[in-house]
Amino acid sequence: SITGKLNDAFSSINRGRLNEANIREGMKQVRQALLEADVNYDVARDFMKRVTEQAVGDKVLKSLRPSEQIVGIVYQELVLLLGGDPRESEFSPRPTSAELGVKRDGLTVIMMCGLQGSGKTTTCGKLARALKQEKLETVLVAADLQRPAAIEQLKTLGGQLDVEVYAEDPASSSPVQVCRNGVKHARKSGAQVVILDTAGRLHVDDDLMRELRQIDNKCAPDSAIYVADAMTGQDAVNSAIAFNDALELDGVILTKTDGDTRGGAALSIRAVTGVPLKFIGTGETLDGLEAFHPTRMAQRILGGGDMGTLLEKAQREFDGEELEDAQRKMAEGKFDLNDFRKQMGMIGKLGSMRSIMKMIPGMGQMADLDPNVDMEKELRHVGGIIDAMTPDERRNPDQIDRSRRNRIARGAGSDPADVNKLLKDFKGMAGAMQGISQKGSMRDRMKAVQ
Ligand code: GDP
Ligand code: MG
Repeated sequence: SITGKLNDAFSSINRGRLNEANIREGMKQVRQALLEADVNYDVARDFMKRVTEQAVGDKVLKSLRPSEQIVGIVYQELVLLLGGDPRESEFSPRPTSAELGVKRDGLTVIMMCGLQGSGKTTTCGKLARALKQEKLETVLVAADLQRPAAIEQLKTLGGQLDVEVYAEDPASSSPVQVCRNGVKHARKSGAQVVILDTAGRLHVDDDLMRELRQIDNKCAPDSAIYVADAMTGQDAVNSAIAFNDALELDGVILTKTDGDTRGGAALSIRAVTGVPLKFIGTGETLDGLEAFHPTRMAQRILGGGDMGTLLEKAQREFDGEELEDAQRKMAEGKFDLNDFRKQMGMIGKLGSMRSIMKMIPGMGQMADLDPNVDMEKELRHVGGIIDAMTPDERRNPDQIDRSRRNRIARGAGSDPADVNKLLKDFKGMAGAMQGISQKGSMRDRMKAVQ
């Protein structure tokens, strides 16, 4: 695995004192590890250039713990490469309609494309399931007329989910026609989303691209999603380029990340095409779909062994700085919902919510009170509400009036009463926190928990 290879490279850096020469030597091994993990050559070269420049800098060599610093640099660059922000704490793994670009009003047309066997049909089912959980009505369109079993496969999934599947007799129809009629049908029936399950081919060819461009022209999808099989490594990257040239992709879903993949495809697709990864497939069943989080993926790539431990330390250092920042703001009474949201992500990462709650006066009881309360779920709910606010509203929640409150609730798929409760709780909490932060260091409390 890419993790194992990076581990080996780093354990050699870890031994003995670090100097520019052995850092460069270690970096060569990291580069080798990336190439063996199927990372695109140009991507690996640029990546290593950025990492090495920082790693041999004075800041690292003169620091107290250079190897931690190096892991921190590799981590940050990995997150950037995956299209993320290293400072952002990832939150819910739940795939959401917002991420898929589903519009608030009217019908959203989503076109799936990709090679045969990449997981398009399965992913259509997974998406329909996720949308259904948000109470969005979806129609699936069986536009793969290449393989006789394809229509049945989609119908079976639709049956399991109780989601409508639009299909026509393949003998007297064409993929473009099915798609056009399917979209019309979905519009008439008042559905919010229609997903076109198109046909793939074994390889990228003109026939396939012509077919997809026709569908693209006639149905004007809001979103063209490329489904890539993570197991196919470089091939997935090369076909991503071809599909992007033909269709201007809006997103990528990487399937089969549960398998023994070399991980390079995920790292390269985004860097090579610039198209964001939206979701990852994590299993054959319909619940095997997760939101793609660059920070989570980078942690997964680096996790395990020495790397994992080093990364944890580096992260803790980083979190410590953030905590101090938060603590200062609390003491000054400037801690707002933006800061709160950031802290929530961190707390999730640090582990058991319950043990942290116990440290906060007044909240300890809540943690003990009802063991059936799913803390993580509660947190996700609250996080969703805060996410639905504008940054300005988070800074200054007093301006949230009834209509804003209703809008936020709708955006979060929540209830106006819940928004109210959150705002009230937050006011109380900010006051309590001001109290704690004057009594003792929040950072020491956090450390005690770990
Ligand atoms: P299509 O030809 O692109 O429509 O691909 P299918 O949806 O028919 O999937 C091809 C195979 O990949 C099926 O056996 C699926 O069960 C499997 N598959 C799809 N997504 C995943 C995934 O995320 N993980 C695993 N393990 N298998 C998957
Ligand atoms: Mg299919």
